[in-house]
Amino acid sequence: MLLLRDMKTFYLFFLSSALALSAAGRARNVILFIGDAGGIPALHAASIHGFNEPNKLFVQNMPHMGLMDTSAAGEWVTDSAAAMSAIVTGQKTDNEVLSKSAAAGGKGRVPLKTILEYAEERGLWTGLITNMSIFDATPAACYAHVDKRSQTLEIADQALRPQFGDGPELFIGADRKAVLAAAAKQGIDVESRFREKGYGVYDTLGAIPAGASRVFALLDGDYDLGAAVERAIATLSRNRKGFFLMVEWDVHTLNLRRGLDRALVLDGVVRRTAERGRKDTLIVFAADHSYDIRVRAGRKDAPLLPDAAAPAPRRPNVRVEDGHTGEQVLVAAQGPGSERVRGFFANTDLFRIMMAAYGWRPQPVTERSTGTR
Ligand SMILES: [Zn+2]
Repeated sequence: MLLLRDMKTFYLFFLSSALALSAAGRARNVILFIGDAGGIPALHAASIHGFNEPNKLFVQNMPHMGLMDTSAAGEWVTDSAAAMSAIVTGQKTDNEVLSKSAAAGGKGRVPLKTILEYAEERGLWTGLITNMSIFDATPAACYAHVDKRSQTLEIADQALRPQFGDGPELFIGADRKAVLAAAAKQGIDVESRFREKGYGVYDTLGAIPAGASRVFALLDGDYDLGAAVERAIATLSRNRKGFFLMVEWDVHTLNLRRGLDRALVLDGVVRRTAERGRKDTLIVFAADHSYDIRVRAGRKDAPLLPDAAAPAPRRPNVRVEDGHTGEQVLVAAQGPGSERVRGFFANTDLFRIMMAAYGWRPQPVTERSTGTR
Protein backbone atom coordinates (compact mmCIF):
# COMPACT_ATOMS: atom_id res chain seq x y z
CA MET A 1 0.00 0.00 0.00
CA LEU A 2 2.75 2.37 1.06
CA LEU A 3 4.77 1.30 -1.92
CA LEU A 4 1.85 2.00 -4.19
CA ARG A 5 1.42 5.51 -2.79
CA ASP A 6 5.12 6.21 -3.15
CA MET A 7 5.02 5.08 -6.70
CA LYS A 8 2.06 7.34 -7.32
CA THR A 9 3.86 10.32 -5.80
CA PHE A 10 6.93 9.53 -7.81
CA TYR A 11 4.87 9.18 -10.92
CA LEU A 12 3.10 12.50 -10.34
CA PHE A 13 6.41 14.21 -9.66
CA PHE A 14 7.87 12.71 -12.77
CA LEU A 15 4.83 13.68 -14.82
CA SER A 16 4.70 17.27 -13.56
CA SER A 17 8.40 17.85 -14.15
CA ALA A 18 8.06 16.39 -17.62
CA LEU A 19 5.13 18.74 -18.27
CA ALA A 20 7.07 21.73 -16.90
CA LEU A 21 9.95 20.87 -19.17
CA SER A 22 7.76 20.58 -22.21
CA ALA A 23 5.92 23.83 -21.39
CA ALA A 24 9.25 25.64 -21.32
CA GLY A 25 10.18 24.37 -24.75
CA ARG A 26 6.90 24.59 -26.58
CA ALA A 27 6.68 25.36 -30.26
CA ARG A 28 4.37 28.13 -31.40
CA ASN A 29 4.81 27.07 -35.02
CA VAL A 30 5.58 23.79 -36.79
CA ILE A 31 6.93 23.62 -40.33
CA LEU A 32 6.89 20.11 -41.76
CA PHE A 33 8.99 19.65 -44.92
CA ILE A 34 8.25 16.44 -46.82
CA GLY A 35 10.67 15.27 -49.49
CA ASP A 36 8.29 12.99 -51.34
CA ALA A 37 10.32 9.81 -52.00
CA GLY A 38 13.37 11.56 -50.52
CA GLY A 39 14.73 8.57 -48.61
CA ILE A 40 18.32 8.16 -47.47
CA PRO A 41 19.53 6.70 -50.82
CA ALA A 42 18.14 9.73 -52.68
CA LEU A 43 19.66 12.17 -50.16
CA HIS A 44 23.02 10.41 -50.43
CA ALA A 45 23.00 10.63 -54.23
CA ALA A 46 21.84 14.27 -54.07
CA SER A 47 24.73 15.22 -51.79
CA ILE A 48 27.29 13.65 -54.14
CA HIS A 49 25.53 15.13 -57.18
CA GLY A 50 25.44 18.61 -55.66
CA PHE A 51 28.64 18.80 -53.58
CA ASN A 52 30.75 15.89 -54.84
CA GLU A 53 30.84 14.74 -51.23
CA PRO A 54 28.56 12.70 -48.97
CA ASN A 55 26.73 14.16 -45.95
CA LYS A 56 26.80 17.74 -47.23
CA LEU A 57 23.06 18.37 -47.24
CA PHE A 58 21.69 20.62 -44.54
CA VAL A 59 19.14 17.97 -43.56
CA GLN A 60 22.02 15.54 -43.00
CA ASN A 61 23.46 17.97 -40.45
CA MET A 62 20.46 19.08 -38.42
CA PRO A 63 20.87 18.80 -34.63
CA HIS A 64 18.32 16.04 -34.10
CA MET A 65 17.61 13.07 -36.31
CA GLY A 66 15.92 9.71 -36.30
CA LEU A 67 15.02 6.88 -38.62
CA MET A 68 11.35 6.38 -39.41
CA ASP A 69 9.50 3.25 -40.47
CA THR A 70 7.08 4.23 -43.23
CA SER A 71 4.98 1.07 -43.65
CA ALA A 72 1.23 1.22 -44.30
CA ALA A 73 -1.34 -0.60 -42.11
CA GLY A 74 -1.27 -3.89 -44.00
CA GLU A 75 1.74 -3.55 -46.31
CA TRP A 76 5.48 -3.04 -45.86
CA VAL A 77 5.67 -0.52 -48.68
CA THR A 78 3.46 2.54 -48.54
CA ASP A 79 2.11 5.00 -51.05
CA SER A 80 2.06 8.73 -50.33
CA ALA A 81 -1.55 8.63 -49.13
CA ALA A 82 -1.15 6.10 -46.30
CA ALA A 83 2.31 7.51 -45.53
CA MET A 84 1.16 11.08 -45.04
CA SER A 85 -2.03 9.98 -43.25
CA ALA A 86 0.15 8.23 -40.63
CA ILE A 87 2.35 11.30 -40.19
CA VAL A 88 -0.54 13.75 -39.77
CA THR A 89 -3.04 11.57 -37.83
CA GLY A 90 -0.87 9.17 -35.79
CA GLN A 91 -2.69 6.12 -37.22
CA LYS A 92 -1.49 3.77 -39.92
CA THR A 93 -4.00 3.20 -42.68
CA ASP A 94 -4.32 1.37 -46.01
CA ASN A 95 -2.61 2.48 -49.20
CA GLU A 96 -4.61 5.04 -51.21
CA VAL A 97 -6.65 6.08 -48.14
CA LEU A 98 -6.45 9.68 -46.92
CA SER A 99 -6.76 10.28 -43.17
CA LYS A 100 -9.38 7.61 -42.54
CA SER A 101 -8.79 4.48 -40.48
CA ALA A 102 -7.59 1.14 -41.84
CA ALA A 103 -10.29 -1.31 -42.90
CA ALA A 104 -8.94 -4.13 -40.68
CA GLY A 105 -11.63 -5.82 -38.59
CA GLY A 106 -14.33 -5.27 -41.18
CA LYS A 107 -15.56 -2.06 -39.59
CA GLY A 108 -16.14 0.99 -41.70
CA ARG A 109 -13.42 3.55 -42.04
CA VAL A 110 -13.53 6.37 -39.51
CA PRO A 111 -12.18 9.84 -40.36
CA LEU A 112 -9.02 10.58 -38.38
CA LYS A 113 -8.34 14.07 -37.11
CA THR A 114 -5.17 15.57 -38.58
CA ILE A 115 -2.62 17.83 -36.92
CA LEU A 116 -3.73 20.57 -39.33
CA GLU A 117 -7.29 20.17 -37.99
CA TYR A 118 -6.06 20.27 -34.37
CA ALA A 119 -4.28 23.51 -35.26
CA GLU A 120 -7.36 24.98 -36.96
CA GLU A 121 -9.51 24.00 -33.98
CA ARG A 122 -7.20 25.96 -31.70
CA GLY A 123 -7.28 29.07 -33.87
CA LEU A 124 -3.82 28.69 -35.40
CA TRP A 125 -3.36 29.44 -39.08
CA THR A 126 -2.39 26.64 -41.44
CA GLY A 127 -0.86 26.38 -44.88
CA LEU A 128 0.07 23.86 -47.56
CA ILE A 129 2.73 24.16 -50.26
CA THR A 130 3.50 21.52 -52.89
CA ASN A 131 5.06 21.11 -56.33
CA MET A 132 2.30 18.58 -57.04
CA SER A 133 -1.41 19.29 -57.33
CA ILE A 134 -2.78 20.84 -54.13
CA PHE A 135 -5.43 18.07 -54.21
CA ASP A 136 -2.78 15.31 -54.51
CA ALA A 137 -2.26 12.77 -51.72
CA THR A 138 0.37 14.46 -49.55
CA PRO A 139 -1.32 17.86 -49.06
CA ALA A 140 -4.82 16.32 -49.18
CA ALA A 141 -4.05 13.99 -46.25
CA CYS A 142 -3.76 17.14 -44.11
CA TYR A 143 -7.30 18.44 -44.77
CA ALA A 144 -9.41 15.68 -46.43
CA HIS A 145 -10.79 12.28 -45.41
CA VAL A 146 -11.51 9.97 -48.33
CA ASP A 147 -11.29 6.24 -49.13
CA LYS A 148 -9.38 6.83 -52.38
CA ARG A 149 -6.76 9.44 -53.15
CA SER A 150 -8.17 9.67 -56.69
CA GLN A 151 -11.43 11.26 -55.41
CA THR A 152 -10.15 14.67 -56.42
CA LEU A 153 -13.49 16.47 -56.50
CA GLU A 154 -14.43 15.24 -53.05
CA ILE A 155 -10.99 16.30 -51.81
CA ALA A 156 -11.44 19.79 -53.27
CA ASP A 157 -14.91 19.96 -51.77
CA GLN A 158 -13.61 19.07 -48.31
CA ALA A 159 -10.94 21.78 -48.62
CA LEU A 160 -13.86 24.21 -48.94
CA ARG A 161 -15.95 22.71 -46.12
CA PRO A 162 -13.55 22.51 -43.15
CA GLN A 163 -14.85 20.88 -39.97
CA PHE A 164 -12.37 22.69 -37.74
CA GLY A 165 -11.67 26.41 -37.70
CA ASP A 166 -12.02 28.08 -41.07
CA GLY A 167 -9.81 25.69 -43.03
CA PRO A 168 -6.27 26.28 -44.30
CA GLU A 169 -5.36 29.96 -44.83
CA LEU A 170 -2.91 29.18 -47.61
CA PHE A 171 -2.77 26.75 -50.52
CA ILE A 172 0.12 26.93 -52.99
CA GLY A 173 0.19 24.12 -55.55
CA ALA A 174 1.58 23.29 -58.99
CA ASP A 175 0.21 21.72 -62.20
CA ARG A 176 -2.05 24.72 -62.70
CA LYS A 177 -3.27 23.82 -66.20
CA ALA A 178 -3.91 20.16 -65.44
CA VAL A 179 -5.73 20.89 -62.17
CA LEU A 180 -8.02 23.49 -63.74
CA ALA A 181 -8.65 21.35 -66.84
CA ALA A 182 -9.53 18.25 -64.81
CA ALA A 183 -12.01 20.22 -62.70
CA ALA A 184 -13.48 22.00 -65.70
CA LYS A 185 -14.13 18.60 -67.30
CA GLN A 186 -16.38 17.85 -64.32
CA GLY A 187 -18.08 21.22 -64.72
CA ILE A 188 -16.31 22.85 -61.77
CA ASP A 189 -14.53 26.17 -61.72
CA VAL A 190 -12.11 25.57 -58.84
CA GLU A 191 -10.89 29.14 -58.64
CA SER A 192 -14.39 30.66 -58.42
CA ARG A 193 -15.28 28.19 -55.67
CA PHE A 194 -12.27 29.29 -53.60
CA ARG A 195 -12.92 32.97 -54.38
CA GLU A 196 -16.49 32.56 -53.08
CA LYS A 197 -15.03 31.22 -49.82
CA GLY A 198 -13.00 34.36 -49.34
CA TYR A 199 -9.68 33.26 -50.81
CA GLY A 200 -7.55 35.54 -52.93
CA VAL A 201 -6.87 33.53 -56.09
CA TYR A 202 -3.45 33.85 -57.79
CA ASP A 203 -1.53 32.31 -60.69
CA THR A 204 1.95 33.56 -59.77
CA LEU A 205 3.80 34.01 -56.48
CA GLY A 206 4.46 37.65 -57.29
CA ALA A 207 0.73 38.34 -57.52
CA ILE A 208 0.15 37.43 -53.86
CA PRO A 209 -0.03 40.73 -51.97
CA ALA A 210 2.03 41.12 -48.79
CA GLY A 211 -1.07 41.53 -46.63
CA ALA A 212 -2.99 38.57 -48.06
CA SER A 213 -4.66 36.48 -45.37
CA ARG A 214 -6.37 33.74 -47.39
CA VAL A 215 -4.39 32.52 -50.37
CA PHE A 216 -5.24 30.01 -53.10
CA ALA A 217 -2.46 29.90 -55.69
CA LEU A 218 -2.18 27.41 -58.55
CA LEU A 219 1.18 27.84 -60.28
CA ASP A 220 3.00 26.45 -63.29
CA GLY A 221 6.05 24.18 -63.25
CA ASP A 222 8.75 24.13 -60.57
CA TYR A 223 8.14 27.59 -59.16
CA ASP A 224 10.51 29.30 -56.71
CA LEU A 225 10.05 27.19 -53.56
CA GLY A 226 12.15 29.52 -51.40
CA ALA A 227 9.96 32.49 -52.31
CA ALA A 228 6.78 30.46 -51.70
CA VAL A 229 7.91 29.37 -48.23
CA GLU A 230 8.95 32.93 -47.33
CA ARG A 231 5.60 34.28 -48.46
CA ALA A 232 3.76 31.57 -46.53
CA ILE A 233 5.68 32.21 -43.32
CA ALA A 234 5.15 35.97 -43.65
CA THR A 235 1.41 35.39 -44.07
CA LEU A 236 0.93 32.75 -41.38
CA SER A 237 3.10 34.42 -38.72
CA ARG A 238 0.65 37.31 -38.52
CA ASN A 239 -1.42 35.05 -36.25
CA ARG A 240 0.12 35.33 -32.79
CA LYS A 241 -1.35 31.98 -31.78
CA GLY A 242 1.00 30.32 -34.25
CA PHE A 243 0.79 28.24 -37.40
CA PHE A 244 1.22 24.83 -39.00
CA LEU A 245 2.80 24.75 -42.45
CA MET A 246 3.34 21.62 -44.56
CA VAL A 247 5.72 21.90 -47.51
CA GLU A 248 5.91 18.98 -49.94
CA TRP A 249 8.54 18.84 -52.69
CA ASP A 250 8.35 15.81 -54.96
CA VAL A 251 11.83 14.27 -55.38
CA HIS A 252 10.96 10.97 -57.05
CA THR A 253 14.10 10.08 -59.03
CA LEU A 254 12.74 8.15 -62.01
CA ASN A 255 13.97 11.23 -63.89
CA LEU A 256 17.27 11.03 -62.01
CA ARG A 257 18.80 14.44 -62.62
CA ARG A 258 15.52 16.27 -62.09
CA GLY A 259 14.84 14.35 -58.87
CA LEU A 260 18.30 15.01 -57.42
CA ASP A 261 18.20 18.68 -58.46
CA ARG A 262 14.84 19.01 -56.72
CA ALA A 263 16.26 17.37 -53.59
CA LEU A 264 19.02 20.00 -53.59
CA VAL A 265 16.45 22.79 -54.00
CA LEU A 266 14.40 21.46 -51.09
CA ASP A 267 17.50 21.08 -48.93
CA GLY A 268 18.50 24.67 -49.65
CA VAL A 269 15.05 25.90 -48.65
CA VAL A 270 15.09 23.91 -45.39
CA ARG A 271 18.52 25.46 -44.70
CA ARG A 272 17.35 29.03 -45.34
CA THR A 273 14.16 28.51 -43.34
CA ALA A 274 16.14 27.09 -40.43
CA GLU A 275 18.76 29.85 -40.53
CA ARG A 276 16.12 32.59 -40.55
CA GLY A 277 13.72 30.63 -38.35
CA ARG A 278 12.43 31.94 -35.09
CA LYS A 279 13.30 30.15 -31.85
CA ASP A 280 9.64 29.22 -31.29
CA THR A 281 9.39 27.19 -34.51
CA LEU A 282 9.87 23.43 -34.79
CA ILE A 283 11.28 22.64 -38.23
CA VAL A 284 11.04 19.01 -39.35
CA PHE A 285 12.32 17.39 -42.52
CA ALA A 286 11.03 13.90 -43.37
CA ALA A 287 10.48 11.69 -46.36
CA ASP A 288 7.07 10.05 -46.58
CA HIS A 289 8.74 6.89 -47.96
CA SER A 290 11.94 5.87 -49.69
CA TYR A 291 12.55 5.06 -53.36
CA ASP A 292 14.52 2.43 -55.27
CA ILE A 293 17.68 4.36 -56.09
CA ARG A 294 21.27 3.25 -55.34
CA VAL A 295 24.73 4.70 -55.88
CA ARG A 296 26.47 1.69 -57.42
CA ALA A 297 29.70 3.12 -58.81
CA GLY A 298 31.55 6.31 -59.67
CA ARG A 299 34.94 7.96 -59.23
CA LYS A 300 35.39 10.80 -56.78
CA ASP A 301 37.18 12.92 -59.40
CA ALA A 302 34.23 12.85 -61.83
CA PRO A 303 30.60 13.98 -61.68
CA LEU A 304 28.16 11.37 -60.40
CA LEU A 305 25.79 11.88 -63.31
CA PRO A 306 27.10 11.88 -66.87
CA ASP A 307 26.87 15.01 -68.96
CA ALA A 308 23.30 15.22 -70.24
CA ALA A 309 24.59 15.35 -73.83
CA ALA A 310 26.88 12.31 -73.45
CA PRO A 311 25.67 8.85 -74.48
CA ALA A 312 24.27 6.82 -71.58
CA PRO A 313 27.04 4.71 -69.98
CA ARG A 314 26.77 0.94 -70.14
CA ARG A 315 26.73 0.70 -66.35
CA PRO A 316 25.46 3.94 -64.79
CA ASN A 317 26.80 5.12 -61.41
CA VAL A 318 23.29 5.37 -60.06
CA ARG A 319 20.77 2.61 -60.54
CA VAL A 320 17.10 3.56 -60.40
CA GLU A 321 14.06 1.37 -60.52
CA ASP A 322 10.63 2.91 -60.46
CA GLY A 323 9.20 1.97 -57.12
CA HIS A 324 8.81 2.96 -53.50
CA THR A 325 10.87 0.96 -50.99
CA GLY A 326 10.23 -0.01 -47.41
CA GLU A 327 13.40 0.88 -45.51
CA GLN A 328 13.46 3.62 -42.86
CA VAL A 329 13.79 7.25 -43.91
CA LEU A 330 15.61 10.16 -42.32
CA VAL A 331 13.70 12.54 -40.07
CA ALA A 332 15.73 15.62 -39.11
CA ALA A 333 14.62 18.48 -36.89
CA GLN A 334 15.53 21.61 -35.00
CA GLY A 335 13.65 23.86 -32.61
CA PRO A 336 11.37 23.21 -29.63
CA GLY A 337 10.44 19.54 -29.35
CA SER A 338 13.05 18.42 -31.85
CA GLU A 339 14.91 16.46 -29.15
CA ARG A 340 12.15 13.84 -29.42
CA VAL A 341 13.38 13.01 -32.92
CA ARG A 342 15.87 10.24 -32.12
CA GLY A 343 16.44 6.55 -32.71
CA PHE A 344 14.16 4.35 -34.76
CA PHE A 345 10.44 5.17 -34.65
CA ALA A 346 7.23 4.75 -36.62
CA ASN A 347 5.67 7.28 -39.00
CA THR A 348 2.77 7.50 -36.54
CA ASP A 349 5.22 8.72 -33.87
CA LEU A 350 6.02 11.79 -35.94
CA PHE A 351 2.42 12.93 -35.36
CA ARG A 352 2.93 12.59 -31.59
CA ILE A 353 6.30 14.37 -31.78
CA MET A 354 4.71 17.39 -33.51
CA MET A 355 1.68 17.39 -31.18
CA ALA A 356 3.97 17.24 -28.14
CA ALA A 357 6.01 20.15 -29.51
CA TYR A 358 2.84 22.27 -29.51
CA GLY A 359 2.01 20.89 -26.05
CA TRP A 360 -1.18 19.20 -27.34
CA ARG A 361 -2.58 15.81 -26.39
CA PRO A 362 -4.21 13.77 -29.15
CA GLN A 363 -7.82 12.79 -28.44
CA PRO A 364 -8.40 9.05 -28.01
CA VAL A 365 -9.15 7.35 -31.30
CA THR A 366 -12.78 6.65 -30.37
CA GLU A 367 -13.46 10.38 -30.01
CA ARG A 368 -11.42 11.29 -32.98
CA SER A 369 -14.10 10.94 -35.59
CA THR A 370 -14.41 14.20 -37.48
CA GLY A 371 -18.02 13.65 -38.42
CA THR A 372 -20.08 11.55 -40.74
CA ARG A 373 -18.09 11.86 -43.94
ZN1 LIG B 1 5.20 9.85 -51.65
